[in-house]
Amino acid sequence: MLLRHTPEESAERAALTINPAKTCQPVGAMYAALGIHNCLPHSHGSQGCCAYHRSALTRHYKDPIMATTSSFTEGASVFGGQANLLESIQNIFTIYDPEVIAVNTTCLSEVIGDDIGQIINKAQAEGKIPAGKRVIHANTPSFKGSHVTGFANMTQAMVQYLAEHTGKPVRQFNILPGYVEPSDMAEIKRLVTELGIQAVMFPDTSEVVNAPLDGKFHMYPKGGTKVKAIRSAGDSSLTIALGRTASLGAAKLLDTKCKVPFEILDLPIGLQATDVLIDTLRKAAGVGVPETLMAERGRVVDLATDMHQYFYRKRVALAGDPDQLLSLTQFLTDLDMQVVLVVTGTPVGGKFERRIKELTGEGTVIKAGLGGDLFQFHQGVKRLRPDLLFGNTYLKYIARDEDIPLIRVGFPIYDRVGHQYFPLVGYQGALRLMEKILAALLDRQERDAKEECFELVM
Ligand code: SF4
Repeated sequence: MLLRHTPEESAERAALTINPAKTCQPVGAMYAALGIHNCLPHSHGSQGCCAYHRSALTRHYKDPIMATTSSFTEGASVFGGQANLLESIQNIFTIYDPEVIAVNTTCLSEVIGDDIGQIINKAQAEGKIPAGKRVIHANTPSFKGSHVTGFANMTQAMVQYLAEHTGKPVRQFNILPGYVEPSDMAEIKRLVTELGIQAVMFPDTSEVVNAPLDGKFHMYPKGGTKVKAIRSAGDSSLTIALGRTASLGAAKLLDTKCKVPFEILDLPIGLQATDVLIDTLRKAAGVGVPETLMAERGRVVDLATDMHQYFYRKRVALAGDPDQLLSLTQFLTDLDMQVVLVVTGTPVGGKFERRIKELTGEGTVIKAGLGGDLFQFHQGVKRLRPDLLFGNTYLKYIARDEDIPLIRVGFPIYDRVGHQYFPLVGYQGALRLMEKILAALLDRQERDAKEECFELVM
């Protein structure tokens, strides 16, 4: 294994990333675009980029991901991609008949400097966009940011192009779910429904990338937020934005463009973060919390208490996306586990580091943005010797080399299933997380137990 040669001592690096802890912006933009009903994501660049974005999502969801490309060749690379995009728009509406085309840019089109807004206007003026259909776009240069930034930019584009302020208030909240799995989006909707609150959530990839197999081909699965609903978001009374990195931009734009105030909350992963979401919704809507949710919460507290001795003082190292890392750190700290290392490849401000330190204390090693890659993570793991790793599929090499159990969370997960179907958010998600942690810790404990300590009952 090549990773066995990773040295323990880490050197400060400013201009080199080794094994990035992120993927490229268009992957996240494409994922967000799939959360609009009847939308076809379009990658403005070469076929190779689009093939990579699609395959990353297809492998993660084990479902075919539909997307089109401007198919740049040498000509477009030199003279710009306007002609390609105009032809693409016409062909896509003629052949695939989506309601919305969501264009994301790529490194190449960004370096050329294609003005996508102007090209969309030209397509409109030339009658290439049929009546009632929409083309939206987000700039997603992958030489900065990550898949989370791309997701945030495309969510913001939904507000920019689709949300409208008519001046007639609608009794509903907007929910921006952040970069989470379709199972999480479905769970957030369920929590809101349990509270009896009317809400529009976008994007919503549930029933799109985890749609059931029914023997028929569906170019556009039944899930996704309808354009009409996103349009109405401009008249909602409040936006609840989950996850600062993924949702703040869209929430701010809804405020400035449509005068919808917002509250920014952590992703509801774990007990406290879910409590905050439920409490915020409850207060804003003036409703009570139903017995069913109280019971779900009670089960989380019960399991955390019953198994506390196994969580207590276990050392964990996390790599992934900033919004998830923050909430995970809070939950693991609440369980009396010790978070010793946090790494993200997504650029984040100083606030992220301050929040993590507030939760864990000064001792935690934090690497973010350019300084946060999986090589650094591996070096940190070698020095700090945690009991458990949390992160995406790429951590399996480190886990194997260091003989430390890995819990797969985040993106991408190519070698396991479950993330599509079972949430990590909400009280149900907290139960699932605890079950995963306990299974990993107890399997390891039993593997290494002496015969006389190999107990039937834990
Ligand atoms: S060239 Fe840029 S947009 Fe294309 S796959 Fe690579 S990082 Fe992503």
